[in-house]
Amino acid sequence: MRICRYNDDKLGLIKGDQLIDVTIALDDIPKTGWPRPHGDAMVANIEAISVGIEANRKMGYVQGVNNVVLKSPVANPTKIIGAPANYRDHVAEAQDDAEINFGREIKTINEYGLFLKANSALVGPGEGITLGHTDRRNDHEIELAVIIGKTAKNVAYDDALDVVAGYSIGLDNTVRGVEDRSLRKSLDSYAVLGPWITTADEIDDPDDLDFQITVNGEVRQESNTKYLIYDCRKLIEYASKFYTLYPGDILMTGTPKGVGPIEPGDHLVCQVDIIGKMEVEVR
Ligand code: MN
Repeated sequence: MRICRYNDDKLGLIKGDQLIDVTIALDDIPKTGWPRPHGDAMVANIEAISVGIEANRKMGYVQGVNNVVLKSPVANPTKIIGAPANYRDHVAEAQDDAEINFGREIKTINEYGLFLKANSALVGPGEGITLGHTDRRNDHEIELAVIIGKTAKNVAYDDALDVVAGYSIGLDNTVRGVEDRSLRKSLDSYAVLGPWITTADEIDDPDDLDFQITVNGEVRQESNTKYLIYDCRKLIEYASKFYTLYPGDILMTGTPKGVGPIEPGDHLVCQVDIIGKMEVEVR
């Protein structure tokens, strides 16, 4: 099932290039007072909502998915987790390119661990990227995004995919420079998630997905998640040794070689096997 959030926070079911309004299924989310529980209420209740979607889909208004503004399918993550230097070919290009490394030694995820991006950076593809610090290099990084579905701590490697609600395409955009990643990767709109959540049952092996990003039609990054240094299970195992994971937490799994600058006016097309295609404008 492919579930999106669109326009004024409606819920959509994607069928091919059609979108069915299934917002009524959100009525299955239990009402909560203050403070609300950690995590995204839609993702936390995605199994009940899926039942509601099936029950109501024939009544929903249908339109072309290109007619709507796609928002981030997760509205309220507790965190966006990033995986630095998690493809060997990207490590190699970062070591070779002074505009990426800024004189620093480039290591791998084994030594860096993980980092966090600010939740306020999160947007959907229809909202686009608004560049900041345009006097500096701003890069795209396409990544497979894992959406956590359950509250989990100290998850074993073999059980790790059991806590996944689904997958999306992520853009971990970056201002290059000497500052900490958490600053340079957290500008408003520098975390793009979309175009929808493809539920976990549709993806048997997240560690064997082809993906690609083009900028104005030119292929910049093209790889497969089988080249991840820490694969999806290991990222979940590792992250959950440090953080409690909550429904809706977003794990951006890392980017391969080919990161490069984006400029206002650029048109990005991101594709990941099974999930689909996400188009993003840069301002
Ligand atoms: Mn990244």
